[in-house]
Amino acid sequence: SDFDIHDRVSADKDFERALRPSFFDSFNGQEKVVENLKVFVQAARMRGEALDHLLLFGPPGLGKTTLAGIIANELGVNFKVTSGPVLDKPGDLAGILTSLEENDVLFIDEIHRLSRVVEEYLYSAMEDYKIDIMIDKGPGARSVQLSLSPFTLVGATTRSGMLTAPMRARFGINCHLEYYNHEVLERIIMRSAALLGVRCTAEAAHEIALRSRGTPRIANSLLRRVRDFAQVKGNGDIEPEIARFSLEALNIDRYGLDEMDHKLLLTMINKFEGGPVGLSTIATAIGEEQDTIEEVYEPFLIMEGFLRRTPRGREVTSLAYTHLKINPPAPMGS
Ligand code: ADP
Repeated sequence: SDFDIHDRVSADKDFERALRPSFFDSFNGQEKVVENLKVFVQAARMRGEALDHLLLFGPPGLGKTTLAGIIANELGVNFKVTSGPVLDKPGDLAGILTSLEENDVLFIDEIHRLSRVVEEYLYSAMEDYKIDIMIDKGPGARSVQLSLSPFTLVGATTRSGMLTAPMRARFGINCHLEYYNHEVLERIIMRSAALLGVRCTAEAAHEIALRSRGTPRIANSLLRRVRDFAQVKGNGDIEPEIARFSLEALNIDRYGLDEMDHKLLLTMINKFEGGPVGLSTIATAIGEEQDTIEEVYEPFLIMEGFLRRTPRGREVTSLAYTHLKINPPAPMGS
C-alpha cells in the first residue's frame, strides 16, 4: 500500500539524516574542496557577511546536500532546502526567499531543473538581494520591489552541462565533487557503523567499500543491508564473511555493478551489438528515465571503463565483455 512505500522512504531518509556529518571535521574525503570551503566560510564569518553563492557539481550521493548543511552549521546560520522541480512558480520561490534571515543558506538541489521563469526570478535575488512581487489582482495589480536579507544560495547539479550560462555566472564559487576512493569509503562505513552501534571490522568495511561505486550514499545503504544479514544470519557483528555473503545475496558484483548496470550493459550487447546506440534508445529498451541513466548509471560505468561515449552514441568496451564473460562480436566485414 501507499503507507508501506511512504514508511520505507521516510525510514531511508531518517537513516540518511542520522549518518549525515554536521561539521567539516566529520566529513571524509573531497579534501581539496573542503580545504577551500573552510577558508571561504571562515572569511565570511570574520566579515559577518553572507558567503558567496556556491555551486556543487557531482553525481547523486556524493555529499552535496551534506556539504551545504555543514556550511550552514559552520556559519551558524539557518539551512533551508528545496529543489528545482519543486519550485513551480516564482511565487513558490518568493515565499522561501522572504523567509530567509541574514546570511542563511538556501540549498536548491537539481538546480538545472528550475523552470526558465523561476530561474530568471532568482537572478535579481542572487545579485542584489531584491525581488519583485505582484500585489493585488486584476486592474489594481502592480509589482513592488522587496529587499531580502543577504543569503547564500548553494545550488547542486549532477550535470554541469545542463546549467545555463547566466545561471552559472552568478555563482562565485564552483566545486566539483569526485567519486570517493576505497580508503575514504572504508572510513565512512566505519564511522556509520559506530553511529549505528554495530561492530564492523576494517576488512568487512573494505569489502563493502569495494562495491559502493565510489558513493557514500551507496556505502551507507549497503552497510544497512549487511547489518540486517549480520543480525539474522550471524552474531550481529559485521565481519568479512558475512559482508561477502550479504553482498552476493544482494547481487552486487565485485565492481559494485548492480542489477541495473548489468541490465544496461547486457541490453546494449544483446540488442544493439554493443553499440554505438543512442541514449534515448537505451532508455526505452531498459525502461528507465534517460536522465537517470545519464546522471546515475553512466558516469560510474564510464569511470570504471565499461562504457564509453562516442559521437554516434554509447558503446560498451571490451572490459564489459570480459567482466560479463561474453565473447565480443567479430569485427564487421570479417
Ligand atoms: P547528494 O546531495 O550529493 O546526493 P548527500 O549529501 O545526500 O548526497 O549524501 C548522501 C549520504 O551520504 C548522506 O546521508 C551522508 O550521510 C553520506 N555522506 C556523503 N558524503 C559523505 C562524507 N564525505 N562523509 C560521510 N558521509 C557522507
